[in-house]
Amino acid sequence: MTKGLTGIGQCHYLNDVAGNRSALSISLFMDLAIEKRNKICYTVVQQRMQGRCHVVGYNIAFISLGCDKNRVNCEQMAALVQDAGHTVVDQPEGADLCVVNTCGFIDAAKEEAIANILEMAELKKEGLLKKILVTGCLSQRYREDIRTELPEVDGMLGTGSYTDIVAAVEQVMEEKRPELFGDINETVEDSDRMVSTPPWTAYLKIAEGCSNRCAFCVIPSLRGKYRSRPMESVLSEARALEAQGVEELILIAQDVSRYGKERYGRYMLPELLTELCKMDFHWIRLHYLYPDAITDELIDVMAREEKIVNYVDIPIQHVNDDILKAMCRRGSKSYITGLFHKLRERLPGVVIRTSLICGLPGETDAAFDELCAFLRAEKLERAGVFQFSPEEGTPAAAMPNQVEPEEAQRRVELVSQLQAQVMDDWNESRLGQVEEVLVERFDEEMGCWAGRTYADSPGIDGTVYFTAAGEMPLGTFVPVLLTGTEDGELTGEIDTWEA
Ligand code: SF4
Repeated sequence: MTKGLTGIGQCHYLNDVAGNRSALSISLFMDLAIEKRNKICYTVVQQRMQGRCHVVGYNIAFISLGCDKNRVNCEQMAALVQDAGHTVVDQPEGADLCVVNTCGFIDAAKEEAIANILEMAELKKEGLLKKILVTGCLSQRYREDIRTELPEVDGMLGTGSYTDIVAAVEQVMEEKRPELFGDINETVEDSDRMVSTPPWTAYLKIAEGCSNRCAFCVIPSLRGKYRSRPMESVLSEARALEAQGVEELILIAQDVSRYGKERYGRYMLPELLTELCKMDFHWIRLHYLYPDAITDELIDVMAREEKIVNYVDIPIQHVNDDILKAMCRRGSKSYITGLFHKLRERLPGVVIRTSLICGLPGETDAAFDELCAFLRAEKLERAGVFQFSPEEGTPAAAMPNQVEPEEAQRRVELVSQLQAQVMDDWNESRLGQVEEVLVERFDEEMGCWAGRTYADSPGIDGTVYFTAAGEMPLGTFVPVLLTGTEDGELTGEIDTWEA
């Protein structure tokens, strides 16, 4: 079902960089755009080498921005156009059409999306690209603005219309300037995929949308209410990934912990995981868990099943009770603290990742100090900290007592420093241990192998650089003795291991 195609997202709130087209420093973003583009191209080239691409129809390039859920949408669109007889190409230069699959979550994501669209517009001007189709959250959120401010865009597809990609491509190529915006609350349809990650890792999206209403977040209005996929459909896709040799399966949704609730009347993540653990995956990861839906049953399954890595990604955003209330977040500081303690007790060596927002309106010095004290006490291994971004249309944007951006930024820096120390201390504490590492590449710059431990989710966490005599097959798991740290990363050497 799946075939063998980049990150910002949902619960992971991102830093704010204000900007619009006139204010954009295009060159500032070009490197980023090119870097992302290359990521996709790498895997498409792989597909072509495997003979999966065939040359008929239009040549279509894809640029996917934002989170891994967006990536999966892009993978599905790529498979649909390929199945329709078009060719997915590895570079927009020379293509008939470039699909820019955007994120419009906060200002930084919008800027990145606009920069990529403008880069494609330059290619059009130079005659190197014929058409541009914009899909994803930016088009869903700023349809009128794109139509008036970006005339280079030849068509748009909303977040409720990914499966209309083939029709959109044809209409764009016929100069019809399509704008297809289906219902964002539609049932999730099964769809083929052109997997873009390395062969040993794949994302599996188990639900669309979000029914939480965090006061700062625009996602529910862009992605619709929470809709779980039927379990059989998720399992069938997992079986296909298993058959392709995927070793690391990463379950994703705005909130995986809520899986099944609206469809089956109860939380079904434990049952889903039990079934997935019967398959031949080595690691199963969960992104992201809303604190109040982490049930004892879920923790039991995680404790019982070795394949589920002891790594939990639980965005808490803050711990001060007044701020949590203002954010419309369920749970309290005492609930969160109790949950983390329970997880540490039940899941030995558990790595806790979270995301935090500094500078929500009404965040007093005392509330901020409380957050810092919590972080010092709980020593969370991973944390992304972001400056509050007042997104139009969200309740938080209209709240009184806005914190000055400079002060919010100062708080972000303080928390970042605090967390960097926590992480360094934790890395130091691991030295001398042998940990299982998934080998991912030979790093030419470092002159050694590079991989990840259970504590490192791809794209967001660390890398272990290690030496070994001879070749290391990519995608295998090897024991590595951790011997040092370098710029926040770990270094080591292979322990006894035979291929
Ligand atoms: S509304 Fe809350 S839970 Fe839903 S995506 Fe946004 S931050 Fe995450």
